[in-house]
Amino acid sequence: MPAQVDNIGMFIRGMTQPDELIKYIQAKFPEKEIQQAYAQMVEASKALAKDEKITPLSAFWKLLERSYQKKTPPMQCGEGCAHCCYTGVTLTQMEWDGVLNRAEKNGIDLNEIIERSHRTIKKVREVLQTKRNIEQMDWHNLVVNQPCPFLGEDQACMVYEDRPLDCRMVVAYRGVCDSKKLEHAQRGVVVEEAIGSTVVARLQHDQTPKFKRRKFQGTQPLRLFQHWLILWQDRKSSKKKK
Ligand code: SF4
Repeated sequence: MPAQVDNIGMFIRGMTQPDELIKYIQAKFPEKEIQQAYAQMVEASKALAKDEKITPLSAFWKLLERSYQKKTPPMQCGEGCAHCCYTGVTLTQMEWDGVLNRAEKNGIDLNEIIERSHRTIKKVREVLQTKRNIEQMDWHNLVVNQPCPFLGEDQACMVYEDRPLDCRMVVAYRGVCDSKKLEHAQRGVVVEEAIGSTVVARLQHDQTPKFKRRKFQGTQPLRLFQHWLILWQDRKSSKKKK
């Protein structure tokens, strides 16, 4: 058994070793299984979305939950434990749209969210205003150890139903984390999770009008929550000026 896998075959170093996680996923799930699961999840998400009149992304979240329930031991994460909410979250446009919808449904005032997170938002804005090569930035480093903008004062997620893939993948099955080192968090547990980012990217691609689609390369740009909030704020103030 490889050193990074625990006794029930789960990857245990995914938070700190992303390259090892990729290698682990490639070794754990044969290419054929990955391809089949990907095609099946894209189609199943669209079909469920149609049946239940929900977005394809919400449908994918439902299917992912079902896979976890079927294939993994019960999750040990409990309400009030929010260590993983201090590590920085990146998400795609479609995931951000889901969070925005949820925020609206839950009556969350984004101006208040921005106000509460002004320190990390300021840091991200400063970087965006420089001429640095933002492709090479370690964005997580800017916000690590600071609470996610959507973490409530009760340490519960304010947009839980529509939280992004990043948040869904860092969970604990073996024990409860005692610190932000996330000593019990595991990733790469089910194939549906391993292909998650590609499924999200594909769903986003398919709902983008054809003339706006770039050549699909299996990924979509990821931005920190703080960056999406800056874009939201800027769009709002430019509308006001008009
Ligand atoms: S979106 Fe929710 S679950 Fe994800 S980091 Fe923020 S508060 Fe935590």
